[in-house]
Amino acid sequence: MSTTDARLTGEVLRLTEELVRRPSVTPEDAGCQALLMDALAPLGFVVESMPFGDVSNFWARRGTAAPLLAFAGHTDVVPTGPASAWTSPPFEPTLRGGALWGRGAADMKASLAAMLVATRRFVASHPRHAGSLAFLVTSDEEGVAVDGTAQVVKELGRRGERIDWCVVGEPSSSERLGDVMRVGRRGSLNGALRVQGTQGHVAYPDKALNPIHAAMGALDALARRQWDAGNAFFPPTGFQISNIAAGTGAANVIPHALDAQFNFRFNTEQTVAGLQAQVEGVLAERLAAPHELEWSVSGLPFLTEPGALTDAVTAAVEEVAGITPEQSTGGGTSDGRFIAPTGAQVVELGPINASIHKIDECVAVADLAPLARIYENILRRLLPPAA
Ligand SMILES: [Zn+2]
Repeated sequence: MSTTDARLTGEVLRLTEELVRRPSVTPEDAGCQALLMDALAPLGFVVESMPFGDVSNFWARRGTAAPLLAFAGHTDVVPTGPASAWTSPPFEPTLRGGALWGRGAADMKASLAAMLVATRRFVASHPRHAGSLAFLVTSDEEGVAVDGTAQVVKELGRRGERIDWCVVGEPSSSERLGDVMRVGRRGSLNGALRVQGTQGHVAYPDKALNPIHAAMGALDALARRQWDAGNAFFPPTGFQISNIAAGTGAANVIPHALDAQFNFRFNTEQTVAGLQAQVEGVLAERLAAPHELEWSVSGLPFLTEPGALTDAVTAAVEEVAGITPEQSTGGGTSDGRFIAPTGAQVVELGPINASIHKIDECVAVADLAPLARIYENILRRLLPPAA
């Protein structure tokens, strides 16, 4: 390791340790954001605390010009599970076997630290960079995610502040740092169907209405339907019935109602309204019993198509890590789902995710300096200094 890399590693490592030491179990922030805000203010950022409910958030922006590039992330972590199962205490950052161990080390305190160090270096060498640079940080990503990024994005919308490019520090990497960047994810839509029958004796079906018989054809049609064929970035939309309940337990009673729940994991070929209309069409055609249908959206799909941001991230990873990142739409949820609908291009890029949410979470020390270099490289490509 060269001296500069050793110094850079030390800088990111120290800051990551400071963050891991703060037991910020969601939605607690435990002082993590104050640490970041205090570091950003002297770099020329206008720093604003934006609490909503009992959630801490902050928005920090350097410059007023467009385009606006934002680093986004969360200071909260998932619960540790039994602390006694950890090799070293989860909130005592510990170096062992070339890794830093502790809850939140990989998800995503190392990313926040690397983003801050990258910003410090970038601002020092390019104080008059193009556009604006911002941090959007919440303490409610791992929890219900109601008073976090979603609210900050709304507030920015009210003010007319528009993010052009957003790099989320979620641990996207699989085997090697930078091997995967996330460019989107599928949406999730839940339906709860109640079919109303008329209870009666099985021997007198003409005096009853069997909701199971009434629903079967419609549910079968929904389960067999091909919703789309997917596209270049997403697999086909999936529909799964997750629960069916009906019956009194007695063999000789036609039940009074049937309840079914189902879920769509849908791609960008679909919209919520479009899926709802298709389901309602099938029910209108195939379900000859009174019924009610309730919907809830758990997330909209988003996709950042190839463009300036994906090009910059790809080139930065290639230059620093010597590999070309795969562009993926897999994985779980992240706050990217709240930022993408504003029209921003959003990419998630961060450390290896093998240990996240587990007992003995860790991040490789050797990845800290490259991660900061990648983030700094992205800044240099997208916010080049004014001529
Ligand atoms: Zn995370």
